[in-house]
Amino acid sequence: MAVLVTGGAGYIGSHAVLALKRKGFDTVIVDNLQTGHGGAVSSDDHFYKGSLHDGEFLDQVFTNHKIDAVIHFAASSLVGESVQNPLKYYENNVGGAISLLQAMERHGVKKLVFSSTAATYGEPESDLLTEEDTVSPTNPYGETKLAVEKMLKWSSEAYGIHSIALRYFNVAGADPEGLRGEDHDPETHLIPIILQVALGQRDHISIFGTDYATPDGTCIRDYIHVSDLVDAHLLALEKLESDPETTVFNLGNGQGFSVKEVIDTARKVTGHDIPAKEEARRAGDPAKLVASAEKARIILKWNPVYTNLHDIIESAWKWHEAHPHGYDQETRKGD
Ligand code: UDP
Repeated sequence: MAVLVTGGAGYIGSHAVLALKRKGFDTVIVDNLQTGHGGAVSSDDHFYKGSLHDGEFLDQVFTNHKIDAVIHFAASSLVGESVQNPLKYYENNVGGAISLLQAMERHGVKKLVFSSTAATYGEPESDLLTEEDTVSPTNPYGETKLAVEKMLKWSSEAYGIHSIALRYFNVAGADPEGLRGEDHDPETHLIPIILQVALGQRDHISIFGTDYATPDGTCIRDYIHVSDLVDAHLLALEKLESDPETTVFNLGNGQGFSVKEVIDTARKVTGHDIPAKEEARRAGDPAKLVASAEKARIILKWNPVYTNLHDIIESAWKWHEAHPHGYDQETRKGD
């Protein structure tokens, strides 16, 4: 029996494939390689390049393999882009999930772990967000993820496809053995951009807003290591096996760091100056997003290992130093 990983050539999906294989699972990857990388797929992986919108393509995958469960990562995930182009997000995130669920229904696959987001909450009403907090997304990205969560609830009742949605906070870091890492183009996330400054690929890091109601005026986020994050997916699969209840879990460390604290920590990790410029706020950024992941700790028995920001940035730094141009070393030589 195999686990189908959609978006398995992307940042988080490729780490999930590694973790599954290390636990002895057979894996099948579906990715359209729009943001994923061929270099993030091993030559011995069962890999299918194609679109989730293509039902016949999915039928082929589900026919070729005995799929027991699906982990669904494939999606568009940039908040700013989602505001500019909301229909792309509805098409890829909601449309893609509909097509995937229809294929699961056709092939009798009943277990799904879904990649959701803290962006479902919108402006937080509490210091430590729990799954009980109000969900009120402030952008189409969060809105489409929430729409899928709701679709999953109804699909559980109607088709018996049971699912766990995992709401990620700020994912960072790289595989501790250095086999996978983060490579986005364009890169918009704080930690990889800081590390590109450390590598000399950018002049400075822009600090988006210094007038927030936080101790140093910059935004606070909860950073979680990608390996800890993917471990929770394996635990979610286990839970669906023994207790097929459709539910939601936050995944974060419960500790917030400001943009300035992240930059200072990266200076210590890399030994580089990392010049920073204070700039205006970025649209749509809440001041503080920190998770309570108590529910995941108690029910999934999730026990994150890399809870220290220094360790998280250090693992990302190792990857960036070893792969300064990401997976695409060959084509970018001579830049
Ligand atoms: N940020 C920043 N400069 C950058 C990129 C991000 O100051 O070049 C800030 C951003 O405004 C937010 C935090 O860093 O407060 C984390 O942003 P990121 O895009 O990494 O993740 P998000 O919280 O938006 O999912």
